[in-house]
Amino acid sequence: MSGSTITPWVVGNWKMNPMQANTQQLLADLKQQLEQASIPHDVCKIGVAPTLLALLQVKNELATDAHEVFVVAQDVSRIAGTGAFTGEVSADLLKDSQVDYVLIGHSERREIFNDTPAILNEKIKNALAANLHIIYCVGESLEQRESGQAEQVVLQQICDIAGVVNPEQWVHITVAYEPIWAIGTGKTASPDDAQAMHAKIREGLSQITPEGQNIAILYGGSVKPENAVELAACPDINGALVGGASLNAESFVQIAQAFAQSK
Ligand code: PEP
Repeated sequence: MSGSTITPWVVGNWKMNPMQANTQQLLADLKQQLEQASIPHDVCKIGVAPTLLALLQVKNELATDAHEVFVVAQDVSRIAGTGAFTGEVSADLLKDSQVDYVLIGHSERREIFNDTPAILNEKIKNALAANLHIIYCVGESLEQRESGQAEQVVLQQICDIAGVVNPEQWVHITVAYEPIWAIGTGKTASPDDAQAMHAKIREGLSQITPEGQNIAILYGGSVKPENAVELAACPDINGALVGGASLNAESFVQIAQAFAQSK
C-alpha cells in the first residue's frame, strides 16, 4: 500500500522550451502564481527543470526563500568531472553550480538520444557520486502496454538501476512513472491504471530496498489541472512530472495545489 506520509512533489519539465523572452514572462507569472498559492515546501515540493541555458537564471529567481522552488537539470553527462568533452555537462559541474537535482532516463532521452540502460547507469553512478538527487523516469510504450508487457518493462527498468544504487543511496532516488503513450499526447493513464502501476513499482522497490515505502513515485503523462485532483487522490501517486502544462504558470501551480491539498 501507499507511502501516504510522503510529501508530494510536482516538477515541471520545460524540455527544449521556451525562447528567452517567454522564459522571462514564465518566470514572472510563476512568481505571481506561487505567491498567490503560497504552498509550503513541506506540503508540496515544487521543482522546475528548465533548459541548461536557463537553469541558473531560474535558480536565482525561484530557488529563493520566498518561492522555495528547486531546480532540476533535464539530463547529465555520462562522464564525470571536468575535461575535454565538448558539449557535455557533468554531475560535478551541476553540483558545483548548486544544482542538486537531475532527471535521468526520460523516455525522450531513451528513445531519441539512445540512452541505453548501460549509459543510464553511468549517469546514475556519477550523479549519486556528486550527491545529486535523481528523478529516474520509467515507462512503457503503447505497443508494450497493448501486448500486456507494461508491468514487466517498468519493473525491469527499476531493476536495471539496482546494481548501481548502493543501499544508503536510495534516499536520493525519486521515480517518475511516465507511460510513453501518455507523454505530450493529451492521453492520460486512468487514475486506476496509474495507481495500479505505482503500487507495482512500490512493491518492486520494496523488494530491493527498505526505503521502497518512502520513495516518492511521481506520475507523468499529460497531467493538467483537469486530471490532477483525481491522480493526486491515488495513494501511491506521490506527485507529478509535468511537461506541456508546466509552461503555463497558472496550470502548473493549480496542479501543485491539487497535490498539496490531497495528502
Ligand atoms: C514529460 O515529458 O515529462 C511529460 C510528462 O510531458 P507531458 O506532461 O507534456 O505529457
